[in-house]
This record gives sequence, C-alpha cells and structure tokens, in this order.
Amino acid sequence: MFSQTAFRRRCTPWVLATGILLLMSGCSEPPKPSTLERIQKEGVLRVVTRNSPATYFQDRNGETGFEYELVKRFAEDLGVELKIETADNLDELFSRLSQPDGPVLAAAGLVGSEGRKRQARFSHSYLQVTPQIIYRDGQTRPSRPEDLLGKRILVLKGSSHAEQLESLKARLPGLQFEVSDAVEVVDLLRMVDEGQIDLTLVDSNELAMNQVYFSKVRVGFDLSDPSSLGWALASGDDNSLLEKTNAFLDKVEQNGTLQRLKDRYYGHVDVLGYVGAYTFAKHLQQRLPRYEGFFRQAAQAHGIDWRLLAAMGYQESLWQPDAISKTGVRGLMMLTQRTAQAMAVSNRLDAKQSITGGAKYLAQIQEQLPAEIVEPDRTWFALAAYNIGNGHLEDARRLTEAEGLNPNKWLDVKQILPRLSQKQWYSKTRHGYARGGEPVHFVANIRRYYDILTWVNLPQLEGSQLAESSLHVPGIDKAGNEKPLPQL
Ligand code: GLU
Repeated sequence: MFSQTAFRRRCTPWVLATGILLLMSGCSEPPKPSTLERIQKEGVLRVVTRNSPATYFQDRNGETGFEYELVKRFAEDLGVELKIETADNLDELFSRLSQPDGPVLAAAGLVGSEGRKRQARFSHSYLQVTPQIIYRDGQTRPSRPEDLLGKRILVLKGSSHAEQLESLKARLPGLQFEVSDAVEVVDLLRMVDEGQIDLTLVDSNELAMNQVYFSKVRVGFDLSDPSSLGWALASGDDNSLLEKTNAFLDKVEQNGTLQRLKDRYYGHVDVLGYVGAYTFAKHLQQRLPRYEGFFRQAAQAHGIDWRLLAAMGYQESLWQPDAISKTGVRGLMMLTQRTAQAMAVSNRLDAKQSITGGAKYLAQIQEQLPAEIVEPDRTWFALAAYNIGNGHLEDARRLTEAEGLNPNKWLDVKQILPRLSQKQWYSKTRHGYARGGEPVHFVANIRRYYDILTWVNLPQLEGSQLAESSLHVPGIDKAGNEKPLPQL
C-alpha cells in the first residue's frame, strides 16, 4: 500500500501533465459556434413556411407573400442568402424545424399557442390575429360557441385552431370537429363557400387575404381574443438567433416597414370594407369573365398588363358597361366625351369600345411621361394622369421638387398631390385648382385590385369555382414567365 506522500510523489507529475494536455486540447479546439455564427459563416438562412396566399406564393413578379417579404428583409439584415422550404402541412413544418440539420426558422403565420411553446420557441409578435368562425351566406349565422354543436366543422390538422377547439370540448363535450392535413386555409374557405362543410375556423389575416375570392364566405363570430403570430425557432438553449430575430422584428415595427407589409397583404378588407371584399369576389365571378377577352385584346395591342386594365375598369365602373356619372363621364372605363372622341370611340356604352379607348388613352399618357420616371412608378404616374390630367400632375411634380422631394417617385408625389386643392398651393401652379386627393385614392385602389387579380391565378386556388371559370389565366413560373395552367 502506498503512503499518501508516496502516492502524491509518484502521481502528481502524471496528473499535472494530463491536466495540461487536457487544457491544451481544450484551447486548441474552438468553442462550438452559435446558431447565428453558423448562419453567418454559411451565408444562408434556411426558413420553412407554408405555400399559401397569406404566407408565401408566386405572383407576377416571382416569389412573394407577407412572410416571405418579412423574412427576406431579415436575411438581408443578416447579410445572408434566404433559402425557403415549404412544408405540406403544419405537423411536417414543426418536425422539420426540430431536425438538427433542418431549417432554423419557421415563418408561416403561426400562432404562438401554449401547446406549441412546449415544442418550439417563439419570437416577438409581428401580427395580432383573431380566430374567426366562418360560415356560408344564406345559413343561420353562428354567434356563440354553442352554435357549433351539430355542425360539420373542418380545420387544419396541427393548427392552433385544432388546439383551440379541442380545449373548447372541456366546456362543450358534444362538440365535434374534423382535422385534415391535406388542405390549406384557402381550401377550407372554398369548402365553406361551396357548402361542402358548414363551418371552419381561420385567422383574421388569412380571411382578409382570401375574402376577395369567396363571395359567400362570412364571419360568424370571433372565437377568442386576438392571438399573436410569431416566428418559431427550434427549442434549445442557444438564444443567439432568437435575440437577433427579436431585435429585427422590433426594428421593422418601429421604422414602419411592418405596417407597410401589413397594408399591402392584409389591407384589402380595410380598403374595400368587409362588404366590398365579398362584393369584389362576386363581381370577379359574375362580371369580369364577360369582359376579360376585351381587356386581354386591348392590353396586348398596347403592351399593357391586361390585369392592370381590368383593375382600372373595376375602379371606374365596377365592370358595368352602362355606368354613368353626374360629371358626364360614362361607360366601363368612364371616358369623357372629349377622350372618347380623341380615341375614336363612337359609343362609350359599348364595353369593347370603352376598354379599347381606355387602353389606348393610358398607353398614350404613359408614352408622354418624362423618361426619368421609370417602372414601376411610371405605371402609377400614368394612372394618376389618366385620372387628373397631365397638366395637374406636372404641377404636383413641380411642387414636389420645390419641397426637396423626388418628382419621379410616386411615393413623394402622392404626398404633395392633395395640395392642389388648397389655394395657398394651387395659386402658384400653372393649371390651378384640382381635386388632388382623388388620383391618390384612384391609384391606391387600382394597385389593390391589380394585386388581387394577379393573385387570382394562384395554384392554391385551383379546383375552386373561380379557377374553373374562364378567369383562370396563365400563371407565372418561378422565372417570372407565363406558363399554361393544366386543364381542369
Ligand atoms: N395560424 C394558424 C396556426 O397557427 C394556421 C393558419 C390558419 O388557419 O389561419 O395554426
């Protein structure tokens, strides 16, 4: 047996050497990089989302959608490339997020529900949404949870809504509902619209985005108080990405970027009004198909996007060829007598002539604009001139320049246009008084309709009544080229 001293004497040098070796090896191996460091080193932010109108889809310019736009800005902020992946359903989305080599973030219109917070971490909220019970016009309006009993209800599998209905069962044991992972929110709304199910539960932002396609879809009641949407990150204790994400979301909230995105994607119902939104859907199905051919022909003849012309037609007359206003303008494109004559339109109430005349006039205006105004602003300026006349628009551009703003940017000129109706300003202009606020609304509304018309060819809408109508126009592929859609 060794004495303690002998042990110390024999072992200490060995223990010391091992300790030094261990220390040295610890020093030579760099510490594991944080998630954020890894993203920055690889130069890629991998994000998983859902392919739906409210999150991520392709439109006339390529990839778009509220979540896409927001997360793209985040990637830019990080100085890395964005790589989007889509999951077929919510369960798959969360399972991908939890894989060690999977995407680091889910940006998919996700409610940070209690159940989910056990399997993922949620960022600060970027949108408040209300879960809404949806029913079909013509049926009795459900107005309280008890009205859900005995109804055929379908919601997305793995959704916050399935979770919510499940907990409602504690209070209403007779409540029954079905879940599906083979559908998206747009399908649920279509199924209500077509009467295949009685009710569904969707978030208010999803409804806002889709209401314009479904004329029979109505809100029964809000099932609960608003909930918060956030981005989900895989659970773990590395907070580097979460902190960066929160700092980014706080920043876009403060600098107005977030609000602009909300207006663009979810603002339809605000702009059109709730009734306006489903009225638009009705007109889209019942009126537009009658004139679509004329819009396409006229647009092609003048190198304009037909959906822009159609959007103008909706703004002017709600696609009614016999529209007449008190100010003497008339027809589907609401041409004045003078413009009609100049465009060789003999009968303004003839839809084809009106559309052809309107297209010709718009193309002419666009050509006359100064070369410094480039797209997409050029289109918005042309629309403004169509509405208020080129002289007044020129006045507004001069005033804009005098203010130190950019007369070639629509964002700047539209701020100044309303001044044309104030004496202190219009008295200094060449063409005098004009209702300058009007072209601002005119352009804003047309842009809104134009967006909606572009979104009508979303693949997600395939199979709907809308898609089956002649309205189903060629879609746009990833490269921004038009591609023929399959025959339904
Ligand atoms: N927001 C829902 C969720 O978090 C999914 C989309 C919806 O149904 O509106 O599960």
